[in-house]
Amino acid sequence: MKNLIGPSPRLPSSDAPPGFHLLAKPTGSTCNIDCTYCFFLSKEALYPNDKHRMSDATLEAYIRQLLESHRTPQVTVAWQGGEPTLMRVDFFKRAVELIEKYRRPGQKVEHTLQTNGLLIDDDWCAFFKEHNFLVGLSVDGPRELHDTYRVDRRGQGTFDLVMRGWALLRRHGVEFNILCTVNAANEKYGRIVYRFFRDELGAKWVQFIPIVERATVETLELANEGWGQEVGQKRPFYTQTGNLVTKRSVGSEQYGRFLVDVFEEWVRHDIGQVYVQLFDVTLEAYFGRHLLCIHAPTCGYGPALESNGDLYACDHFVEPRFLLGNIHRTHLQDLMASPEQRGFGQNKRDTLTTQCQQCAVRPLCNGGCPKDRFVLSRDGDPGQNYLCSGLELFFTHTRPAMRRMVQLLQQGGPPSDVMALIKAEDGKRGPYKPCPCGSGRKFRFCHGDRAPASPFSGPQAWTNTTQDGGAMSRQTGLPTDGRLGAPAGDKARHLGDNADFFN
Ligand code: SF4
Ligand code: SF4
Repeated sequence: MKNLIGPSPRLPSSDAPPGFHLLAKPTGSTCNIDCTYCFFLSKEALYPNDKHRMSDATLEAYIRQLLESHRTPQVTVAWQGGEPTLMRVDFFKRAVELIEKYRRPGQKVEHTLQTNGLLIDDDWCAFFKEHNFLVGLSVDGPRELHDTYRVDRRGQGTFDLVMRGWALLRRHGVEFNILCTVNAANEKYGRIVYRFFRDELGAKWVQFIPIVERATVETLELANEGWGQEVGQKRPFYTQTGNLVTKRSVGSEQYGRFLVDVFEEWVRHDIGQVYVQLFDVTLEAYFGRHLLCIHAPTCGYGPALESNGDLYACDHFVEPRFLLGNIHRTHLQDLMASPEQRGFGQNKRDTLTTQCQQCAVRPLCNGGCPKDRFVLSRDGDPGQNYLCSGLELFFTHTRPAMRRMVQLLQQGGPPSDVMALIKAEDGKRGPYKPCPCGSGRKFRFCHGDRAPASPFSGPQAWTNTTQDGGAMSRQTGLPTDGRLGAPAGDKARHLGDNADFFN
């Protein structure tokens, strides 16, 4: 294939990946709120005397090296935290200037930023819009669910302030992606949470992330108190160790039930309209492409950059033993090509338990993320994924519909045609038979036409506090051209977890 981008000033190392998805943390783990489940807050302890603000020299080194390291025509510049908007908009204007300075001919740059939304104002939105940022907004569902763990330093819920930020993004026409954690508070409300995002927030991009906070017998009690400021000096430094989980963590099987609950709603109404990251990447996996590191056979393409230039193997492994080096001393491309990083990624495949190797959905699941592999397998082997029962449930349950979508695509048809097939099956089965989601309820009162209304606050509870004063119709939004529900443009455009570029 003809190389469309200009030559890199660096000769590529043979072990360097052609592209990767780096998460840059310009404020380190510093945040302006104190979500109880956010163990990233404890990472401040890694740099006790640091200001946790990326300097101009580090910013320039990072942007230059990132662009030099890529041999793919597309480069994603992804900002994460902590809370990146604490850096103020001028920092990001400078980043865009530097991207223009170092971008090679033909290199296309995508900008993404993950935020809690509290500092979003008109200036931010104008900037996002001008540079076509995809903004990830963290929302855990309706107010009662969101405010359970997403609290400020006084322990007050942040829902109203997040909705204010959301309304501004909407008013300025900024593309946004909802990032929702699945935790002990919302795990039973998959369909209701999803409907809230779709119907009340007008979300076209939704991403679910399971909360799994590990702990040991020694750290569990303290970990259960949370990682926020109020725990203060007692707060333990979080590492991926221990085979216990905090009380806020999602239940293993419950994670699968949550996803199935969302899927049963989405597969009847929203294919081609709403992009749910895990559903889209699962369909891609049927074609042998793994767009999400978590369910790819190997990983190691999603490093995390701290504000001082330190590079870690992955955002989930910001720990001294996974420090690859510092970009002021070693070029980013060399750090990505290092045996340590290659080994980190391959270890994912090489440590699969026998249970995983023999599992029917292994080609889709690939054992999940190594950070969650800390329980015993059915054979008693260590290193089984804590979420295994939920993952197995999700991949098994969705297989018939996914296979039909694969067939439709192979025949040149749209996968959304599966909605009519499922509707026909629903009609044949009848409304009073058990719902196919497995809840045990009758279909009509579960995923049918009499699905229960949300027991949580509706938009009237907060739209008066938003600046545009109203909820968005789910009919508005961007046209779609993705294989499933991606809005126009690049359907692999998402935040948080890391796309895998080995294909
Ligand atoms: S699979 Fe897990 S450990 Fe590997 S890059 Fe992705 S998040 Fe990190
Ligand atoms: S579903 Fe469970 S056993 Fe199967 S590959 Fe995933 S983690 Fe392994």
